[in-house]
Amino acid sequence: MVEMELAGAAERLLASQKPVLTVHVSPDGDAIGAMLGLYWLLLEKGCRPVMVVDDSVPAVFQNLLGAELIKPVSEEQLDADLLVVLDASDDGRIGRVRQMVAPGLPVLNIDHHVSNTGFSEMRWLDVRAAATAEMIAQLADYWQYDYAKTGVAEALYTGIATDCGFFRYANTTPRTMRLAARLLEAGVQPNVVSDRIETQPVQTVSKLANVLSGLEMHSDGRVALISIPLDQYDPETDSDSFIRYPRYIEGVEVAVLLKSVAPDVTRVSMRSKELDVSAVALQYGGGGHKRAAGCTIPRPLDEAKAVILKTLSEAIDNGL
Ligand code: AMP
Ligand code: MN
Ligand code: MN
Repeated sequence: MVEMELAGAAERLLASQKPVLTVHVSPDGDAIGAMLGLYWLLLEKGCRPVMVVDDSVPAVFQNLLGAELIKPVSEEQLDADLLVVLDASDDGRIGRVRQMVAPGLPVLNIDHHVSNTGFSEMRWLDVRAAATAEMIAQLADYWQYDYAKTGVAEALYTGIATDCGFFRYANTTPRTMRLAARLLEAGVQPNVVSDRIETQPVQTVSKLANVLSGLEMHSDGRVALISIPLDQYDPETDSDSFIRYPRYIEGVEVAVLLKSVAPDVTRVSMRSKELDVSAVALQYGGGGHKRAAGCTIPRPLDEAKAVILKTLSEAIDNGL
């Protein structure tokens, strides 16, 4: 695998005429924001990029500039000369997009996950970046991109802000803030971005009340867990933010959100203060960052819960 920095990745991108851009399934603000930002940068450079995601774009990101151009996965074979995989740390995370391009197509992975598996021929990995969108904002600076379209800056700002909890998490650095400041100078209104993301339908808040009523404390109060059983799971309700509540309970080291998405499939999200939860997620085929990670366990909710609680309690005892 060829490891690249900003300049090398920039050069490789420009050598491509028809890159396909993609991101991880269940795309978040960083995945969508980084992909849209790169799309507009490359278009301005004379490339003809195409964006594909094996999932729907969450409603809160649908009004970002160019979101309607993101293709869903299909039988179509795309005529491409490069596959750019953004914000995804392993092959499986892009779902069926791989099947839409020629098997031998070169892959450039642009990512910031510490759990990155090195699956691509070329990789620009920056684990110090708060977001993949922060890397794309660096690329914009490198190319002296003129943010005449505020929408491009807004997509990148959305990516950066969502992955660093609006500049509160430990991954926020001076560089994160400097790049975000550039995006504000380009006309981004931070309150508009955050209101759009934080505003929920009333049903979501009712669901939150319900989920929080099932809060469980484990490992002497160091693990707080909430779960969404199958009969309450609704893919249309955005429950990703629910984990912030157990995370901020006094004495809690790790917060866990379990979602039963099918009878034998449980999606696990973890947030920690210090414990390396990406190492825990990796044990179950997932990944992420030190303090924010996830995995999908092919077991019913109760079994997945027992397994994760045991692993976490051991990790806490070992001081990992
Ligand atoms: P989440 O809890 O789903 O918000 O994910 C937290 C972090 O872990 C994000 O950076 C995700 O990209 C990563 N992550 C979540 N699930 C997986 C998975 N199954 N495989 C690899 N990384 C994951
Ligand atoms: Mn992401
Ligand atoms: Mn990210």
